[in-house]
Amino acid sequence: MAREELHSIVVPMYNEREVALTFLERATAALSALPAYEIIVVDDGSTDGTWEILDSARAAYPNLRLIRFSRNFGHQTAITAGIDAARGDTVTVIDADLQDPPELIPKMVEKWREGADIVFAVRRARRGESLFKKATAAAFYRLMRSLAAVDIPLDSGDFRLMSRRTADALISMRERSRFIRGLVAWLGFQRAYVHYDREERAAGRTKYPLGKMLRLAADGIVSFSLRPLQLAALFGALSALIGFGVIVYAIVERLRGGDVVPGWTSLMVAVLFMGGVQLLSLAILGEYVGRIYDEVRGRPLYVVHERVGFDDEDGARD
Ligand code: UDP
Ligand code: MG
Repeated sequence: MAREELHSIVVPMYNEREVALTFLERATAALSALPAYEIIVVDDGSTDGTWEILDSARAAYPNLRLIRFSRNFGHQTAITAGIDAARGDTVTVIDADLQDPPELIPKMVEKWREGADIVFAVRRARRGESLFKKATAAAFYRLMRSLAAVDIPLDSGDFRLMSRRTADALISMRERSRFIRGLVAWLGFQRAYVHYDREERAAGRTKYPLGKMLRLAADGIVSFSLRPLQLAALFGALSALIGFGVIVYAIVERLRGGDVVPGWTSLMVAVLFMGGVQLLSLAILGEYVGRIYDEVRGRPLYVVHERVGFDDEDGARD
């Protein structure tokens, strides 16, 4: 190979004041094993001074490139901006909180040199995360697998290495409901895996409260599966069937001339049940319609406030 390999590391940061410098220190130490690298940090609209810390760290870290969003656009979008800007032969996405060890990256690069296009880092153990988080994560990965037509590796987050062609293919997908794990899995390409134990967050608190987690889960399911829509049809068919049964029962009772009490109870049950099924079906429809609306407006995925450390200042794709 005539040209030196370049490896890009993409790090989303949202209010990561406590870990920003620790991350840079540990990552730089780990990456010194590589021929050449760049660290692209995307500041996802932090309000705690993360940007100032990063900006002044540039003197000490010449390989650092920074993108600052105009506001908080969310983790998946921050990753997207970083991948858009990356120029490396490989692009590795990693969390800033050191739950994913940067020391693993040279191992992932090794797998890439052996021919893999995507190297997934799969969590063996998750230390220091609440039982609730572990349980919901486990349930979600399994639900995704059964619903979606794409093969998303179980228990792999966004910590992964992509070859240049994989990153380019991902960049070409500009959909708004971004569930990047799913998009990458959809791409195909040759995969490899490395395993690791997930550490506790080095400092600071999770930037993924339950609401954001549910949003991500909904994005994942709705953008990769039409099963929920089919579920609405199933509910419809089921309630129609039950309704039909009740009709037959009512007629038979009437014809037998029995003591037909004006069926308040059964009426209430039927009305409430139907109402519930209809609302649920509408909600499912709404999820899809809302996303269609989002796509149709065609707004850019993110807005950049500032980019520093890049040689070419063009890189911002929409
Ligand atoms: N993050 C981000 N934007 C957000 C939320 C999170 O860029 O709106 C970043 C955050 O700084 C971290 C990564 O995404 O580098 C993962 O977040 P976190 O560690 O809080 O999630 P958890 O590990 O608790 O699921
Ligand atoms: Mg974390």
